[in-house]
Amino acid sequence: MMATNHVDIWDACLQVIRNEIAPQSFETWFKPIKPLRLDNHILTIEVPSQFFYEWLEEHYVSLLKQAIMQTMGEVGRLEYSIVIDNNQPGNPSSVRIPASSHNASSSRSLNNHIQSSGPIPNPFVIPGIRKFEVESNLNSSYTFSNFIEGDCNRLARSAGYAVASKPGVTAYNPLFIYSGVGLGKTHLLQAIGNEIKANTPRRAVLYVSSERFISQFIEAVRKSTVNDFMNFYQMIDVLLVDDIQFLSGKDKTQENFFHVFNHLRQSGKQIVLASDRSPNDIEGMEERLLSRFKWGLSAHLSTPDYDTRKQILMSKMYQNGIELPIEVVDFISHNINSNIRELEGAMISLLAQSSLNRKDVNMDLARAMLQNFVDTVAREITIESIQEIVGNHLEIDVAQMKSKTRKRDIVQARQIAMFFAKEMTRNSLKSIGTHFGGRDHSTVIHALQTVSDLMETDKMFKQNVSEIRKRISLELG
Ligand code: ADP
Ligand code: MG
Repeated sequence: MMATNHVDIWDACLQVIRNEIAPQSFETWFKPIKPLRLDNHILTIEVPSQFFYEWLEEHYVSLLKQAIMQTMGEVGRLEYSIVIDNNQPGNPSSVRIPASSHNASSSRSLNNHIQSSGPIPNPFVIPGIRKFEVESNLNSSYTFSNFIEGDCNRLARSAGYAVASKPGVTAYNPLFIYSGVGLGKTHLLQAIGNEIKANTPRRAVLYVSSERFISQFIEAVRKSTVNDFMNFYQMIDVLLVDDIQFLSGKDKTQENFFHVFNHLRQSGKQIVLASDRSPNDIEGMEERLLSRFKWGLSAHLSTPDYDTRKQILMSKMYQNGIELPIEVVDFISHNINSNIRELEGAMISLLAQSSLNRKDVNMDLARAMLQNFVDTVAREITIESIQEIVGNHLEIDVAQMKSKTRKRDIVQARQIAMFFAKEMTRNSLKSIGTHFGGRDHSTVIHALQTVSDLMETDKMFKQNVSEIRKRISLELG
């Protein structure tokens, strides 16, 4: 008897697949897959990442085809739903592989059969305003419950949660979240959206990257539908805009975003923005927009400490149904300390190698993996990470460094951190000043001068500075 629902069909597929491959590979690559739905002979399965999808495509696509063919017949199709990687604009969030194409003898030629899931329906066609419905673009796997809390994200997380519980009502409007790459901005934005949708499903929640906003605007101009575009955005209840820094230099789009922003905020709607830098550091953006970004709350996500990294890793393993020996978890958490996306990347890379070489994941494999990994990864040195290391080394709180205090040891720590910020990052003097409690660039110049003077005259000081330099290159290098 042919199965008729997605769960049974996928189970049947798994039976076929299980017989063909090693148990370890089955565990790694097929256990984490979730059947989502069956619609018009299309079985949609959810895979945890782009990487995962690519792996399946490269190694198991003919097996998948065979399984689909056996369980659903000629008409069967397979569609992947990938947990969206929002850092790669233009990536389709789902891709299709027609399971019954016969000319696919090598896995490479299969690439030709992958199509994006078709044009996204034009969101500006609004059939009767009352029935207005928005496709939120939310990825249900990003929630508050799996957003691990730590010192690195406490403020942003709790502000996000407050906003999600009472959208448009708190003083955090807009809520502006900023951080370097891979530290959870997109996750948090999505979690806010998902939480609101769960509490009040009828609210019009929209997650959009600023790139997508820009291209929608350009298209609207081309098709003379700017009015529709504006109407659409002005009807949103909760607008979540990711990577807002990409609006830089896009004057026309900025102007329209400005109007959307004003309209929403005046109507008590909630706005949440994410950016790779603070409003003070965004260049090429109209002043009136920047000043509005600062009306609510700006919250920074910093790099997680060891314990938080470990908790995050464990939670990812749990979510993906992966088991790793605890010493391997410790090892990865200890050594991959730049950002969370890399932490996940290391975990996946380890599984991939284990599956490829048919070896268990153990410390040897972990060490070998890390060597490759660390070499290919460009670590990011940021003002924040410098502040943290200098602070740790001199036992001074980063908050104090940014405060008005003129206590001698704090002033000195501040000056040293400024010195390294200048030496090791590409920030302007102005931007460095901003990161130290809004000081101006002449203060930074003075600090640089003081540090180089002291290095010439004070041996102890000089030694301290070179220890710190060593530590920065060790930790971030
Ligand atoms: P960003 O948008 O800042 O570049 P992302 O939100 O894409 O970063 O996060 C990168 C990865 O790290 C995602 O898989 C996300 O789920 C994970 N992540 C980030 N912060 C946390 C956290 N606090 N708890 C669990 N996972 C996290
Ligand atoms: Mg992001």
